[in-house]
Amino acid sequence: MEMAILSQDEQEQEVTQTDAGSACRICIACRKAYEAESLLRFVVSPRLELVFDVKGYAPGRGAYVCANENCFQNALKKRAFNRSFKGSILVDDANLLTSIKENLLHRILENLGLAYCAGQCVVGRTKVQEDRVSDKIKAIVIAYDLSERSVTELDFDELKQTKDVVVLTGPSKNLMGQALGRSLTGVVALLKGRISDRIICDLLRWQFLKNPGERMNEEIFNG
Ligand SMILES: [Zn+2]
Repeated sequence: MEMAILSQDEQEQEVTQTDAGSACRICIACRKAYEAESLLRFVVSPRLELVFDVKGYAPGRGAYVCANENCFQNALKKRAFNRSFKGSILVDDANLLTSIKENLLHRILENLGLAYCAGQCVVGRTKVQEDRVSDKIKAIVIAYDLSERSVTELDFDELKQTKDVVVLTGPSKNLMGQALGRSLTGVVALLKGRISDRIICDLLRWQFLKNPGERMNEEIFNG
């Protein structure tokens, strides 16, 4: 039994290719392979502390976990991090999840600001629905605290159906506004581009940690 587990551990470092050509990694909790960028990557600091690698390319050996609370908690419970790094490492069980969410949120907001400066995002419902932008939209981000009435008024069904646009729940109006150097911001459209891809990826990981669920990888990343 122990031998079998060890050989699976070895597999974590192996890179497999999906049809799309992107690297897959195995979650140390559920043992399923997913695209690396959809997973949470962890590394060990020189002081032997387990650290969340928000950007996903810190040097050294990495361990991957699905971005949902089930796999994350199972990894802690089964001491899968220690097993994966083959030794005693310091895992801050109590605060790790909070710090992961904070790291992701921070990066989402930072990249929103960058996307805005680079002309890769459009703000406000009216602008989002203009024809000249609708072809370029990759995702629409709606602040989670936007009033129910405003959400009902938003009609992005056509965009979703005809342009394959993803609609995501984002940080608060206040935080999105701050990130963009504006007042309260409830709706942001991300236009196709690299920064947008990064924001979408982080938003999905952040969302699924906020609302534990297992649907993320299957639905979004293999779709
Ligand atoms: Zn998993």
